[in-house]
Formats: sequence, structure tokens, C-alpha cells
Amino acid sequence: MSKLLIVGTVAFDAIETPFGKTDKILGGAATYIGLSSSQFNIDNAIVSVVGDDFPDEHLSLLTKKGINIEGIEIVKGGKTFFWSGKYHNDLNSRDTLETQLNVLADFNPVVPKDYLDADIVMLGNLHPLVQLSVLEQIKKPKLTVLDTMNFWMDNALDDLLKVIAKVDVITINDEEARQLTGEHSLLKSARKIAKMGPKYVVIKKGEHGALLFHKDQIFFAPALPLEEVFDPTGAGDTFAGGFTGYLTQNQDISFENMKNAVIYGSNLASFCVEKFGTERMENLSKDEIDSRLQEFKSLTQFDIELRPTKAL
Ligand code: AMP
Repeated sequence: MSKLLIVGTVAFDAIETPFGKTDKILGGAATYIGLSSSQFNIDNAIVSVVGDDFPDEHLSLLTKKGINIEGIEIVKGGKTFFWSGKYHNDLNSRDTLETQLNVLADFNPVVPKDYLDADIVMLGNLHPLVQLSVLEQIKKPKLTVLDTMNFWMDNALDDLLKVIAKVDVITINDEEARQLTGEHSLLKSARKIAKMGPKYVVIKKGEHGALLFHKDQIFFAPALPLEEVFDPTGAGDTFAGGFTGYLTQNQDISFENMKNAVIYGSNLASFCVEKFGTERMENLSKDEIDSRLQEFKSLTQFDIELRPTKAL
């Protein structure tokens, strides 16, 4: 089976939305990417770090989903990365209340031997130096994908730019694309980001869908209109997990197939937001995924004549 290597935080999150508040629950970019990509017929592994305050049940959830966790270091006496955030009423924007790097502050990642030849590498959100170190360890993957966020633009921009220069694809949300480039227009932003290195740029727009850019081509996928949105945390990472999981499974990294990957990513992200934290992604069936994909198809398909002739 093809292999997907995932790097990113495995974390505790405390989340506040207009619908409620959680204490420390399971979170982290790599957690969401792992759960989402596990829906595909692939081998996947996570490289990350936690403290010994991290419950075994969280780790066994990942193993139960078939994820290789050899690359998750457990630091004795260390505290796990912690993030807390509060969403605004529209759920499309949020404020970070606290980020505690804890064991992430001096983490030296070690890629498991079996994944040095991974087909696709998904560099999820965490310190850009950790992302760089992983890129240096692996052989020649077919595709490298990077996700990041404003925290690293504010705190480690030079290192982040070095990673951006080395990857094939970047996934980034609209506000972060604007912050990175100083451009309000997402088209101009994408063009500027492509000049920094990545051949493909994916801009995520939350409930407004996602845009894929490659040279002069653009593809847009809407997000599925949902009745219940409880907690958008992890939606971006779930998208990235679906995007890379799909590409790892079918090994076709053409622009045409990346469009399908964007749809798979959006489809999976639409489940993630329906419950708090990882809950929805922990209990998601293949049938639910397929039937929503069908809804997606009928929602976006239309037949239109480009130049209708006027009836006389
Ligand atoms: P998303 O909603 O897709 O942007 O991802 C939210 C997840 O990212 C949460 O589960 C957090 O634990 C994690 N996270 C938040 N801030 C950071 C950060 N600075 N670096 C890495 N992961 C983070």
C-alpha cells in the first residue's frame, strides 16, 4: 500500500464556540489529518511529540484507526502542546486565546524507518524547523504538502519561508494567505505564494469552500451547506488529510486529479465541524462519506448552454 507521512501537533485543545465550551480535549493538526486520511486505503504514520500527561486512550484511538504512531515521541515529565481558541458568532473566524508549545519547543523529529520512502508527505501545522527536519530525513516523495498558520508567520517567518520554498503544495486559509502576502485579493495572494515555491496553492475559505491554483488554472469547490455546525476546529486539517489521503491512495498527482482531492477534502471537513473536537471523525462510516459525496455532486453539477440561441 502507498504511504502517507504526517507531521503535526498532537495536542490538547480547549474550545469555545457559541454553542458551548470544552475542557482539554484531544486535538492537534496531525490528529485531525490522521483521522481523516485513515478513511483511505493507505498506510499512514504520524511524527509528533506529546508529554507523559497525554492519555493512553488517545494514542490507542490513533492506533485503532490503523495509524502508525512509532514517530510520536513521549517526553517523560513533559507537558503536551496546548491550544485554546474562541470562535466568533459567524464561526468563520476565531481568536487564539493561548498557545503553549511545551514539549514542542525543543522537539527533534525522527521519521520511522518504514516511512523514509513515503509516497506523500503532509507537513501539518507545527514549528517550521520541525517540518524542515522531516523534509531533510525523507528520500524522494512524489509530493510534499505544507499547511501552516498565522502563529508561525508571527513567530518564525524566516524558517517558514524556507519550508514554503521546498514544498509542492501549500494549503492555507484565506486570512493567512492575506497576512503572508499583504494582498487582499486571493488571486493575487495565490500568485505571490506560488512565486515563493509551491507549484500548487490551495486557499481554504471555511464555509465558503476552497480554491486550487496551478499556473493559470483555478478550480473552486464550495463547502457543503450544513444544518449543524458546532465547532470548526480541525476542519482545515481534516481537509488536508482528505486531500493527501486521496492522492496517496490513487497516486495520480495531476491538476485534474487534485480537483478530486479538493472535493474529498471538503467532503470530509464537512463532517468534522458537526461535533466538538474529533468526535465526529472518530465515528464516521464509509456509507456516510459516500452519500455526502453524492450530495456534493448534485449540488455542484449543472448543464448550461454557453450561448443560448434566441427562439424566433
Ligand atoms: P484548524 O482548525 O484546522 O486550523 O486546526 C486546529 C488544530 O490546530 C487544533 O487542534 C490545535 O491543536 C492545532 N494548533 C493550533 N495552533 C497551532 C500551532 N501554532 N501549531 C500547530 N498546531 C496548532
